[in-house]
Amino acid sequence: MTRAGKESKGKEVRRYYAALYHAWGAQHWWPAETRFEVIVGAYLTQNTAWTNVERALAQLRVAELLSIDGIRRVPLNKLERLIRSSGYFRQKARRVKTFVAFLDKKYAGSLDQLFSEPTDKLREQLLGLNGIGPETADSILLYAGNHPVFVVDAYTRRILDRHKILLAKTNYEDIRELFQSALAPLAHEQEQSTATLASQLESGIHGAAHSPSAMSTAARTALVQVYNEMHGLIVGVGKHFCKKTAPICAECPLQPFLPPGKAD
Ligand code: SF4
Repeated sequence: MTRAGKESKGKEVRRYYAALYHAWGAQHWWPAETRFEVIVGAYLTQNTAWTNVERALAQLRVAELLSIDGIRRVPLNKLERLIRSSGYFRQKARRVKTFVAFLDKKYAGSLDQLFSEPTDKLREQLLGLNGIGPETADSILLYAGNHPVFVVDAYTRRILDRHKILLAKTNYEDIRELFQSALAPLAHEQEQSTATLASQLESGIHGAAHSPSAMSTAARTALVQVYNEMHGLIVGVGKHFCKKTAPICAECPLQPFLPPGKAD
């Protein structure tokens, strides 16, 4: 991609952020009370709808096992049973246990120690764990650790492809780089704005928004907040409008940006 091409795509991404945020406001991702709950949710959401994850998390909560120590001591077969609703439950149970074993071995069981590592080093370590691909690693880094990385998901790819910005099969890192560099200037603007925080707290439930949670309202840098918000807004577009088949372009806030003859 040429520099001019990258700049024009970046500008387009910023326009999408502005349009979506104007339409829906803050999305309050991730809906969780603790960092560990985000991590477990990031594993469980692989290849399934969030509603199935919520059921599995509720089971763990009721059993008082939604904690590092809980996952450490629960027998594998019981964990499998509790998270069954999230699908691929045997695989996911092993993977969650692997994460806790890694945390114990490398960071004495401490998420504070884990997340105090530099972003690149920690990302590399997470990617080395069984069952963690870039989307899961970045979800953990961004939503649990407040590290400045953008999460690329299938909705992001679909929107970019339908809007002729990048092909859906584009390399994950290239898409991440596009969003990170495009959104970084907005973080500076947000740092100057007191209206942003107020609007986040006042916003209603639109797009894919959740009610404010301990994690969604935790202190974080403006850059992390912008990456967080953009991913949440994209989830809203994908969930409600940019469906795999039959996208509902006429009602989508990104319709004004749709190239002629695409999608609808
Ligand atoms: S639903 Fe249509 S307008 Fe909205 S993002 Fe998808 S392709 Fe674009």
